[in-house]
Amino acid sequence: MAETRLYEAKTAAKSEFLLPLRTMMRTGEVNEEPAEAVNIATLIGLVGDDRDRHRLLFATFVNTTREIIETIQAACQDRAVDVVGQQAHKLKSSARSMGADQLADVCWALETAAKNMRWDEIDEQFPRLDPLFESVKAYIDRYCESEVSVSATDIACDTKVEDISILSIDDDKLILEVEKLMLKEMGISNIFTATTGKEALAFLDGHGSSIHLIMLDLNMPGMDGIAFLRHLATRNYDGSILFVSGQHRRILQTATRLAGEHRLKVLGFVEKPIKPVDVKHFLDKLNDVPLKEISKTGDSRQPAVTADELRRGIENNELVVFFQPKVNVLSRRVVGAEALVRWQHPEKGLIPPFVFISLAEESGLIDALTRRVFEQAVRHAAELQSSGFDIKIAVNLSVDNLYDLAWPDYAMAVTESAGVDPSKIVLEITETRLISNIALALEILVRLSMSKFILSIDDFGTGYSSMEQLQRIPFSELKVDRAFVHGAANENSAKAILESSVNLARKLDMSVVAEGVETEEDWNLIADIGCDQAQGYLIAKPMPVDEWVTWLHEWNKRYGMEAVEG
Ligand code: C2E
Ligand code: CA
Ligand code: CA
Repeated sequence: MAETRLYEAKTAAKSEFLLPLRTMMRTGEVNEEPAEAVNIATLIGLVGDDRDRHRLLFATFVNTTREIIETIQAACQDRAVDVVGQQAHKLKSSARSMGADQLADVCWALETAAKNMRWDEIDEQFPRLDPLFESVKAYIDRYCESEVSVSATDIACDTKVEDISILSIDDDKLILEVEKLMLKEMGISNIFTATTGKEALAFLDGHGSSIHLIMLDLNMPGMDGIAFLRHLATRNYDGSILFVSGQHRRILQTATRLAGEHRLKVLGFVEKPIKPVDVKHFLDKLNDVPLKEISKTGDSRQPAVTADELRRGIENNELVVFFQPKVNVLSRRVVGAEALVRWQHPEKGLIPPFVFISLAEESGLIDALTRRVFEQAVRHAAELQSSGFDIKIAVNLSVDNLYDLAWPDYAMAVTESAGVDPSKIVLEITETRLISNIALALEILVRLSMSKFILSIDDFGTGYSSMEQLQRIPFSELKVDRAFVHGAANENSAKAILESSVNLARKLDMSVVAEGVETEEDWNLIADIGCDQAQGYLIAKPMPVDEWVTWLHEWNKRYGMEAVEG
């Protein structure tokens, strides 16, 4: 372990390469003073002073940067603003980690311009990339040839780290390499890496119980970090998670809340470029959790289940549907109920959906599962209708259901034979998972909508690319995720998202459902902001069908008058 500290090293070392540490310009204002193209202190701070490591990282950096600049150039020609934004974001993180701050600043400007769809600014910034990259390369060439030694930081951990195993997931290989070296410098040797969520899951299926910490990049193509969390939850992963991201702090906070909903242990988040002190802080925290405990296989809280068991469970009709009311905020009238599946396992008891939904999706069982739920829900809608209730029943669709072109006809056939109008059935689709294969999904959704089914966008606010999809898909209901409802009265960022979701819904002529209304305070807030419907524990938890029907009668007795007047 290196003995000298970085912050002392800046005065001690004679190297021309060791510039005084300056505050990293996260905000991206462009620095006007002439400075070296690379601040080598950044890299030393990250991975120590081993020049071979630096050479390796710089070589990777130069290669990927060249590719990224070419991709941006092509995207500028094609006017593909999303690609410009993504690539600039990626290069920003890696340039920052290499200490190439001016290059990172220009990437920041490009990314911002792309977000605002300002082609004039993109066209102004893009030509600056190449010359800056050239000067970075010139610096790197000089640096790699010189043999002057520089002193390094001591980033050794107080934590007993030798026994810790870490899985680091990031689509940027350079970032992975930096993390790996940084962790090694801290004395950790069991470091595994994956560049996609899929690869990570495959790894975890073999070694899940022995991984103590997952360092997770939230912004990955394909399965993003948010979707990855759902998969982790179904695998009962019981180690800790540390988010690593160049995303805005708010997104990280949201992700942390969502992970909490999935009962996953989140240590916190570190922003890119990662600083060893931050990581060290969390590794010390990890030490508070006894290693023995977190390395146990499985999870005592929820039973592990296999795809075969689930298949048998579906065949044996073990899936039951609970109902949770949705009430009109002004009149308090019950206007709908969401059908939520549970698995009544003969030995393991009542199993909640987060344990088996992803399993169903991965093992091709989701179609059978959704059909069972849909049929029970439609049957119940018919019963309510014949008892004189005007209540819409909502069913959750998995995005995997939207790859089956037979779905609209099937749904029509089921409602028709039950004598239920499709306009009494709401189909809730989770926004985060809508991103891939949009063309096919779009066709199915449009056909369902033309058949008068009501489409609802679920967990709104947790996805990345909602706006575009809202315009393309005929949703008529928007459900704001409970992360932006419960407790939002005391949290400005959650409240802002709630408010802007309502405004957006108004403009698009959609009704808004707030989910996760747990307290009077939540209720008052959503009433103030103007949500149309509320769903949550304050009103009622999901209930088995008989209990729900009894509840419904009682509620109507209590609020019946208001309902008529409202
Ligand atoms: P979701 O669609 O967001 O469903 C709402 C979840 O929030 C339900 O959890 C419900 O019990 C819970 N909830 C309701 N009110 C409150 C509240 O005030 N506070 C809190 N903290 N939670 C509240 P549940 O039933 O465990 O379902 C979890 C998720 O499983 C659902 O989230 C949905 O994504 C999925 N799911 C459930 N049933 C089905 C199904 O039939 N098909 C598919 N594809 N997914 C389903
Ligand atoms: Ca739902
Ligand atoms: Ca939801």
